Amino acid sequence: MEFTRPRGTRDFLPSEMEKRRHVESLMRHTFDSFGYSEVATPTFENLELFTTKSGEEIKEHLYHFKDKGDRDLALRPELTAAVMRLYINELQVAPKPQKIFYIGNCFRYERPQSGRYREFWQVGAELIGSSRPEADAEVIALAMDTLNALKLKNCELHIGHIGILRGILEENGVKEDDQEQLMGIIDKGEEAELQAFLDDLGLSPDVQRTLNAILYLKGEKNEGVLIKAKKLLSGNPEALDALNNFRVVLDKLDAFGVEDYTINLGIARGLDYYTGTVFEIYAANLGAQKQICGGGTYSLVEVLGGKKTPTCGFAFGFDRVILALEKEGYGFEEGTKTRFFVMATGPELADDALKVARRLRGRFPAEADIMARKMGKALKYASNRGFSHAVILGEDEFKTGRLIIKDLRTGKQVEIGTNEVETFEP
Ligand code: AMP
Repeated sequence: MEFTRPRGTRDFLPSEMEKRRHVESLMRHTFDSFGYSEVATPTFENLELFTTKSGEEIKEHLYHFKDKGDRDLALRPELTAAVMRLYINELQVAPKPQKIFYIGNCFRYERPQSGRYREFWQVGAELIGSSRPEADAEVIALAMDTLNALKLKNCELHIGHIGILRGILEENGVKEDDQEQLMGIIDKGEEAELQAFLDDLGLSPDVQRTLNAILYLKGEKNEGVLIKAKKLLSGNPEALDALNNFRVVLDKLDAFGVEDYTINLGIARGLDYYTGTVFEIYAANLGAQKQICGGGTYSLVEVLGGKKTPTCGFAFGFDRVILALEKEGYGFEEGTKTRFFVMATGPELADDALKVARRLRGRFPAEADIMARKMGKALKYASNRGFSHAVILGEDEFKTGRLIIKDLRTGKQVEIGTNEVETFEP
């Protein structure tokens, strides 16, 4: 019998893990540079955390189960709810704003396809405790600077403001539940379902026309989108307030150095309690699953039983970021790392080879041959495994306190003293 991986999951071979760790460390570096600190939460949570956040229908997309104590648990489908729970449990009295980031695996029961998995990784940040436009602008800048640090070229930032849609709905008496459902439908992009739902809500043709016009309002920064929106919203004071807030966020974004984006008032972001600025980043070369990041301002702390607190944040789909980088031929610094493979020409020096490897390990990754291979085979193995250097202990040289270091990429070799192992720079 052959065991295979569960559907929608992946194994990562060493070369893949090297890429992932490399990208992860660059991302961590940018988060650090913005003053965000890392947290970790459990892989599974009480099911209720996610149904409270996103409604009972989320269960369809969850891996959930009962444990032996009859508790309803779920593998996390994302980390925002968990981070908000952590904030409520541990950080409510800490100075604000709190700036937090996380890297973790998530699980969703979805139909697997390219860029869509049942186990995938999210890297995200949350800024908790500021409702100022600077906060919205900062998280957008953090997301974009992270991608800039990775040198991802083909990505598009779209920014909208869900308060505008909500303002129109609010002013026309659409209940909270219906608003959430509508956001879900807009997010799915199902045109016919959307029009049918708008009819069901009993909205007048005028209001429907305004909503539709707003949903399709999109354009580069200087294309007058905000002016058009202002005209459309002339009779909607709440929506106009939201538009004004949006304008200030975009102004702040300039100061954060983010200048290249599309204003897109049709972003709704599904069932996630988004309230104000919302944004998505797309990597055009990824096809159907091109959204590599989604975020915005949301209101969740009070929904989960904490004190009302403004929050904004985002999550990258880490796997999709890697895919997008690969599509652009990103080098991942492969093969540039110095790694030594130490070998002896005969069995009598095998222990000395182990000792030399140990001495090198203080500064570089180093292994010694533990298969008693002959030189030729050992060199071949070292090349195949991608070692940059072979250290060769030959009987005659070693007796006189010398050993050979061969650069396996160029074939060049040098002889050094055995007492230089700790100081040798390749
Ligand atoms: P969401 O929590 O749905 O806003 O997702 C945030 C990001 O996670 C998305 O922009 C995607 O890049 C990524 N993502 C969501 N679902 C999956 C999945 N099933 N497989 C891979 N990446 C995903």
